[in-house]
Amino acid sequence: TDPIHIIGGGMAGSEAAWAAACLGVPVVLHEMRPEVGTDAHQTGGFAELVCSNSFRSDDDESNAVGLLHWEMRRAGSIMMAGAEHASVPAGGALAVDRDLFSDFVTARLEDHPLITIERGEVAGLPPETWSSVIIATGPLTSAGLAQAIGSLTGEESLAFFDAIAPIVHAESVDMSRAWFQSRYDKGETEDERTAYLNCPMSREEYERFIDALLAAPKTEFKEWERTTPYFEGCLPIEVMAERGRETLRYGPLKPVGLTNPHQPDIKPHAVVQLRRENRLGTLYNLVGFQTKLKYAAQADVFSLIPGLENARFARLGGIHRNTFLNSPRLLDGEMRLRALPRLRFAGQITGVEGYVESGAMGILAGHFAAAERLGRPLAPPPPETAMGALLAHITGGADATTFQPMNVNFGLFPPLDAMKSGRKGKRDRARAYTARAKTAFDAWIAAARPSAAAE
Ligand code: FAD
Repeated sequence: TDPIHIIGGGMAGSEAAWAAACLGVPVVLHEMRPEVGTDAHQTGGFAELVCSNSFRSDDDESNAVGLLHWEMRRAGSIMMAGAEHASVPAGGALAVDRDLFSDFVTARLEDHPLITIERGEVAGLPPETWSSVIIATGPLTSAGLAQAIGSLTGEESLAFFDAIAPIVHAESVDMSRAWFQSRYDKGETEDERTAYLNCPMSREEYERFIDALLAAPKTEFKEWERTTPYFEGCLPIEVMAERGRETLRYGPLKPVGLTNPHQPDIKPHAVVQLRRENRLGTLYNLVGFQTKLKYAAQADVFSLIPGLENARFARLGGIHRNTFLNSPRLLDGEMRLRALPRLRFAGQITGVEGYVESGAMGILAGHFAAAERLGRPLAPPPPETAMGALLAHITGGADATTFQPMNVNFGLFPPLDAMKSGRKGKRDRARAYTARAKTAFDAWIAAARPSAAAE
């Protein structure tokens, strides 16, 4: 059989390659790293997590991303297998040691007999001899390929900015001021109790910190970049602070569900949380502190946080550009480019947002491409499922004129039957969404992976 060529070995490309190969179709996986790098990746490994080490909530009963995890596991996801292998405690979230995770995915892909790995950039339109291609080159698609796609689709790619949160070395945190605790004491084991580090702020300390944040030099945007909007879910901390002095206290620095053991009688005015970054517990990232402050200013401003006065940074925050297609206009229901159907797209470049969503779209693209090769038509997953809801959104549900990257959420799902859902509370409604999704997904996956029962 002619192989499926997959370009990009990130979340989506790894999942697509794994899915197609497990369905018996040969794959050539093209990855430009380590020969050609990106602004964010640091290794040559597959499925490298470039920022947070969290796949967010793992609650598959009342959370949409947790449901997506569940569906991915059902579909044989290599990311979910890797997450199980490399998990680090994070309360109700699914978080991983990024190196263990990437090593696991890389080894599995390298070992699969139907997967051939080719290192090197695909710098323009894939050759015509590649009859089935999945482009999964992500938010940092190389310039040569991005330009080729741009001229093919007749439009400039949309772009916006995401920002990276800084990471500190745990041993440099002053534990006479900071303490370990998950919000509302979630988690029972010792490991889970060290999932979060907390740094308390008095009113004065908070005000001083906000002043410094607002005054610090930021990375300047070029003229053409000024019109590029932020994705609301990933606002830089200084942009949040600019919206109002109290914004952070009601956002990532909210002081609720936490008690400072050093001063149990004094309620902190605000609390900075740090989430464990690796299994060893040597690194913690500042939750919500994605930033475009200049590097030199970051250490100064963040050292105003009690407990971080002498913190050493393993990585500072930064900004990056995101590239994605206007999928509702350009892609058909099986993620093929209408103008050139031998090209399929997957991952963040299709306008989903996040590791998990990108991986899920890779799974779908891999299934569609393999089904096409095998001459076995495959219907899309029903829109009641998390994968189906995301797919329906990017391939038609969203308004093409205002299309923006999307995280999975229940708002994308067809509404519940009003009669049956009645006046249910938020949690009950979420449970109704997930229960409905699971039934629908099981039926779909049984058709998509006839041998799944044996897996
Ligand atoms: P990627 O994982 O980026 O994979 C694309 C791959 O394609 C890369 O390995 C790249 O080297 C390769 N490639 C690119 N062009 C070519 C080419 N021409 N030829 C060959 N190979 C090529 N998501 C979260 O969930 N949480 C976060 O905290 C978070 N923070 C982020 C911070 C930054 C700086 C960035 C850039 C993104 C962040 N994201 C975050 C988004 C997340 O990275 C993506 O959602 C996810 O990685 C997308 O998966 P993907 O497979 O589409 O792309």
